[in-house]
Formats: sequence, structure tokens, C-alpha cells
Amino acid sequence: MRLNGLSTRDPAPSYSQLLKDLRAGKVKDLELSLQQREVRVRFDDGRQATVPVFSNDQLLLRTAEQAKVPLTVRDDRADGATAGLVANGLLVLLLLGGLALLIRRSAQVANRAMGFGSSKPRLQEEGGVAVRFEDVAGIGEAKEELQEVVTFLKEPERFTAVGAKIPKGVLLVGPPGTGKTLLARAIAGEAGVPFFSMAASEFVEMFVGVGASRVRDLFRKAKAKAPCIIFIDEVDAVGRQRGAGIGGGNDEREQTLNQLLTEMDGFADNSGVILLAATNRPDVLDSALMRPGRFDRRITIDLPDRRGREAILAVHARSRPLAGAVSLSAWASRTPGFSGADLANLLNEAAILTARHHQSEIDDGALAGALERITMGLTAAPLQDSAKKRLIGYHEVGHALLTTLVPKADPLDKVTLLPRSGGVGGFARMMPDEEILDSGLISKAYLQARLVVALGGRAAELVVFGPAEVTQGASGDLDMVTRICREMVTRYGFSSLGPVALEGDGAEVFLGRDWLRSEPPYSRETGNRIDALVRELASSALDQAVALLQPRRALMDELVEMLIRDETIEGEAFRAVVTSHEAAHQQPTGSAVALQATGKADVEAAQVGV
Ligand code: ADP
Repeated sequence: MRLNGLSTRDPAPSYSQLLKDLRAGKVKDLELSLQQREVRVRFDDGRQATVPVFSNDQLLLRTAEQAKVPLTVRDDRADGATAGLVANGLLVLLLLGGLALLIRRSAQVANRAMGFGSSKPRLQEEGGVAVRFEDVAGIGEAKEELQEVVTFLKEPERFTAVGAKIPKGVLLVGPPGTGKTLLARAIAGEAGVPFFSMAASEFVEMFVGVGASRVRDLFRKAKAKAPCIIFIDEVDAVGRQRGAGIGGGNDEREQTLNQLLTEMDGFADNSGVILLAATNRPDVLDSALMRPGRFDRRITIDLPDRRGREAILAVHARSRPLAGAVSLSAWASRTPGFSGADLANLLNEAAILTARHHQSEIDDGALAGALERITMGLTAAPLQDSAKKRLIGYHEVGHALLTTLVPKADPLDKVTLLPRSGGVGGFARMMPDEEILDSGLISKAYLQARLVVALGGRAAELVVFGPAEVTQGASGDLDMVTRICREMVTRYGFSSLGPVALEGDGAEVFLGRDWLRSEPPYSRETGNRIDALVRELASSALDQAVALLQPRRALMDELVEMLIRDETIEGEAFRAVVTSHEAAHQQPTGSAVALQATGKADVEAAQVGV
């Protein structure tokens, strides 16, 4: 085929055909490639072809010579060799590169292993700590104690002149979020000294000896900047009792602790370095840490009481625009058990909700939304009016109704059928009694009232749907009831077992100390009595709940209808409905019913509402 007058390659002739063509004088010239063992043929008629040949092909050479066809020899072996050389060179380079990379990586690992010891505590330079005592609220006594530390850091001469030694270590004990870190920072801020902080868990690495060298390093850096504060968070991570633990202790942890003790002994009295450590498990700390000259001051920071909560809310409200109608004292009452961190979070969530609704001030609605979000989770889509919704309605109305019927029970805050993510279909929330919360004293009658209210859900299901239709929805309530009953019998002496405390405070077992001591400290017979009494307390509370709800079936129906219609009933409105209904129907009082219903039950259990 010809294209634009140029010749193209035609199918190659066979070797013998090539010889024939050569002899017949049809070939114009030949070009022999040594490397590829082929010959390129150009025919007189313009065709071209490539024919494979033998290496060192004498016959072809002779034939071409006889036919007088010009033959050129192309020696392309050199090109091939260069290409091979380049390829080989690249391979070697690649290997060398890989090797270098490997060596560098392992050198880095080795370097890191060697440099593990030098800790990098987050250092804040003098005056860098902006926190002041006024930013920490609700823990007055702790602040007073620590004021002394500030004075020492600022004017050490006042103490040294009269020969006083200031404590080297202060242990801050309290649940998470109560402001221990904040307080430590406030001391540094007030005294205007550098603040070194580190979590004890950061000391312990997988290499033995690293923790100890980190402790040394931290103290070395701190001493260079004295006076200063060293703050060690979660000190129980290294300060646990030595020699404890199954199969011996953790060597690395023990070495770290030993180093910490040595360093504390090592710095001279009044050297200006004050060590503050925080923990929420003082029970597991090694007693050597508490000796004089080490952490000889212990300051307990508990969850704030109502006034404390109000003060903390006020601190965090300083930087946020609150609507004039918001009463922080009311919000402090509604947040029992909240830590400082929870309260800070509450205001923050409220601020987020406010921003989301394009409002300029945080109002009660935003705070209510935030509280619900924190305590109950996010709202889920409302349930359709179905049998399930009705069942949950009766369950919650059972709880809510009993809060109004049982004297001494915590009053109802609200009952709602708005579901929450996490499978909560609705809830009835009580407002815990402030006096009880603040005093920390809980009476037997109060606990019994809580049992009856907690079983109100199950009781309502029993009354309305019958014993065969009760649901597992009450399992959370039952957990709580069992725990309260057990504590009443084994810890508070609230049962016929007598005034004995048979169990500890239920704190988690500390492996290595309590683990092997799993035998309960009472006889099997007592154990059986405890179980029987727990059951009896719970059953009689259920009997009382049923006895109070049974004659009020019509009222329950009315309240459930209202709840399904409105989805939420506030405590006030709920109580108003109950009061008017009670006045119209003259029901027997709670205590009278309780006594009728539980003739067989333990005397003290029947005293609910008396
Ligand atoms: P802890 O160290 O006890 O776990 P933090 O000091 O880290 O608790 O507290 C976390 C946050 O909670 C603080 O930054 C602060 O915003 C808030 N907070 C906690 N307690 C208080 C308090 N008493 N006063 C003001 N804010 C507090």
C-alpha cells in the first residue's frame, strides 16, 4: 500500500525468499542490525521489510556480496548496553535510597527513645496566667487555705522571718470538673509566678525509666524558675500504692513515684517551688505521698451546693448577655449535683441555642433547652399518637402523680412525653429538696417516698394494663430502687437488721488491694436476710404505689389525655389538676392507704407518708 508516494512496509518475506530476491537482483540494499538479529531490506520497487536472520549469518553476507547489494552493518549493541546500564544504575540508586530511608527512620526512633526523658510541661511565663481567685466561685474554704500559699509565693520573708515552713505539697481532692485545675492556675495568677502543669499519666511511657527522668526534668526546669507552681493532674496515675497490683506492681509506675518522692524530699524548705496535685481517688494513693514534707496539706473540693452553684453561674454569666428576667438562683436550684464544669457547659449550651435562634440575650427558654440537652440528650422526633405513646404516658403520669400524693416526696418539676435520643420515651422530673441536698442528711421517710415514686411507673402499668402487660420500661427504675433498698439495709441501719453497716460505700474495687478480699464481711445467713429485706422493701413500696394509683384511675386517664395533647405539663399545672380532682372526689390520704395495703410488710416500710 502506498500513501502519498511514500513506501510502507509490506509483509516480510521469508528468509529463503529474501535469498532468492537477493540472487534475482530485486534488492536495493540491506542494513544488518547486530543487536536485534534482523536485516532491514529495501527492494528496488520501493518496498521495505525486516527479516529475522541468524547471528553471524555467513550465507546472507555471501549472497549479498555475490549479488553486489550494498550491505551496511548497524552496531546498536552499544545503545542497548547504555540502556541496560542506566536501568541497573537506577535500581541500585533506588535500593540505596530505600536503605537510607530505613536507617533514618530507625535513627529517629532511637532518638525519640533517648529524648523521651525530657518532658515538655506546658510552661506559662510569669504573669501569663490570667486566672484570678475571683474566677473560681463556690469553694470559699479551699480558697482561704490557698490564699496562704499565694502570700508565701509573694512575700516569703514574712514566713521565713518567724521560722515557719510552708507546705511543699498540696493535694486537691475532688470529683472531676470541680475546679481543681482552675484553682491551681488562679494561685499562679494571683501570685504572678510561672505555672508548670502536667498530667501524671504523661509521665508514664512504655519505656522503663522514662517517667522517672521526666519527673527529674520537670523539677529541674521548675527550680530554675522558682518561685513557681508545679501542678500534677490525676496524680493517682503514678501515686498508687506501691506493691499493689496482681502479680506485683508496675515497675515503671513505682520508679516514677519513687522519683517524685525523692524530688520532693530533695528541694530545700522554702525553696519557692510549690507542688499542687489533683486527684479524685485519694483512697488509692500511696501513704508515703501524704507524709509531712510531701503532700502534707489536703484540701477537699466537693461538688458545689446551691449557693456555690449560683456563684459559679454568676462567674460564667459575666461574659454573656443574660436576659433581665433570668434568676440565677432559680437555675442553681434546678441543677443539683452539677459540677462547676457542668454549669459552665450549661451556660455555653444556652448561648449556642440563643445564637441559633438569632436572639441577642440568653433567656430562661434557652437555659431550659440547654439543661434538657445536657441531662436527657437531644430531642428526637415526637412519637405518633399510638399505643406506645399512651403506655409511656401512663408510666410517667404514675411517677408524677405519686410525687404529689406521697408526702415527703420531691415535688414535680415537669412531666413530658417528648422523646429524647437514646430511647427515652418521656420523663417525669422532680425538683430535689434543697435543704436535704445542702445538708446531705437523708431521712428514712424521704428514701421510702423515693422508692414509692420510683415504682410509680410500674405501678401505673399494673393498674391500667394488668400484670401480663407490664413492660421492661421500668428497668432503670428497678435498678435505682434496688440500690436504695440495699443501702437502706446494709449501710444506714434502716431495717429490722438493726443499726449495722455491713457494706462499704460501693466505691469501685481497687485492684490489688480489695480484689482478693471478695468475701463479704458478714455470714451467709445475714446475706440471705439482707436479700429478703431488700425484696420486702421494694415490694411493699410497689404495693403502696399500686394502692395509691388504683382508686385514681379516672384522674390518671385525664392526666394522660392532657399529656398526649400538650406533650409537657409543668409541675404547677399538674398539681392544680390533682388538687381540684382530689377535692371533688375526697380520696383516702396516702398514709391511710399505705397502711391498709401493706399490712404484712415491714413496719418501717409502711411508714411512707406517715
Ligand atoms: P478539675 O480540674 O477539677 O477536673 P477544672 O478546673 O478543669 O476541673 O474545671 C473545668 C472548667 O469548669 C473550668 O475551666 C471552669 O470553666 C469550670 N469550673 C469548674 N469549677 C469552677 C468554679 N468553682 N468556678 C468557676 N468555674 C468553674
